[in-house]
Amino acid sequence: MRHTLKAQQFDAKLISVLFKRADELQALSIDKRRHQKLGGLLQGKMMFLVFFEPSTRTRISFAAAGQHLGMQVVSTENAQISSSLVKGESLEDTIQVLSEYQPDVIVMRHFEANAAERAAAVSGVPIINAGDGAGQHPTQALLDLYTIYREAGSMTGLNIALGTDLLHSRALRSLIYLLAKVGGNHLILVSPKELRLASDVKTYLKKRGTTFEETDKLEYALKKADVIYWNRIQKERFTGEIPPQTFVIGPQHLPLIKPEAFIMNALPRIDEILTTVDKDPRAAYFRQAGNGMFIRMALLEWTLELL
Ligand code: ASP
Repeated sequence: MRHTLKAQQFDAKLISVLFKRADELQALSIDKRRHQKLGGLLQGKMMFLVFFEPSTRTRISFAAAGQHLGMQVVSTENAQISSSLVKGESLEDTIQVLSEYQPDVIVMRHFEANAAERAAAVSGVPIINAGDGAGQHPTQALLDLYTIYREAGSMTGLNIALGTDLLHSRALRSLIYLLAKVGGNHLILVSPKELRLASDVKTYLKKRGTTFEETDKLEYALKKADVIYWNRIQKERFTGEIPPQTFVIGPQHLPLIKPEAFIMNALPRIDEILTTVDKDPRAAYFRQAGNGMFIRMALLEWTLELL
C-alpha cells in the first residue's frame, strides 16, 4: 500500500514524477475545459478526510484536489470533539472502522506525533499523514519543495534560510528531511537558542552530507539566502511560557534580500512576516499555498497507483 507517512520516504525519482505531474495539472487548470480533462481520472474513488486538529489549507486543498479529479470526499473537520475519540475510542479502532466503509484513501491529521504510523499499521487502505502533532507534515514538505523548484528553477545549489521555531514546526522538520534527501543545498537555521532544530534532524543532515549553520543573526541570513522559509512560533506546542517572536521580516529588510530570492511561509502567518511585505514580488507564500492543491492531486494519483 502506498502510504505517505514521512518526508524521507520520497526519493529523487518519485519527487520528479510528482513534480512533473503537478506541472501538467497546473497547465491543464488554466485550460477552460479542465473539468472535461481532469474530471474522469479518479472517478468512482472515495477519500476520507479525518482531521483531529485545525486546518484550513491542507484539508480544503485535499478536498478540492480530490473533487477536481472526480473523487467523492467525506470529511470531518473537528474529529477531536465530534468523533468517538471523545468517548474514549482508540485511534486504531477508529481507523479500522473507517477502513470498513471502503474509502480508497484516508487523509488524516492528528495531535500526536507518530499517529499516522499507528493508523497505517491497522488500516486496510493507504493513509496520508496531513500533520501529526509536532512530528511531520510530509505533504507540506512536498509542496514546499515543489515551490522551490518552480520559483528557483532548481532544487539544488541554494542557500536556504529556515526560521523561526525549528524545534516545534512539523512543516520545517519535514522540509528539512526532504532537503537532506535531495541534497546539494546549504541550510541557514535561524532561531532563538531555545527553539533550535532537534538533534535527531541534525544527525540526519550530517548523515546525508547536507551542510548547515545555526545563527540568531537575521540580517546575515536574509542577505545570504536564495530561499527564505519563515514559519510562525508554534504556540500550541508549548506547555510553559510562549516566547515572543523576535525574528520579524518587515519592509526594512527587503533591500537586503537578493533580487532573485523569494520568501515562503507554510501559513498561517501570524507576526513573523509583516503584511507590508506581501506586495513585494518575492513574497511567494500565497503562490506556495496554491501549489499545494496541484501537488496533492499528483500525490492522490500516486497513492491510487495511477502514477
Ligand atoms: N499549516 C502548517 C501545519 O499545519 C504550518 C503551521 O501551522 O504553522 O503544520
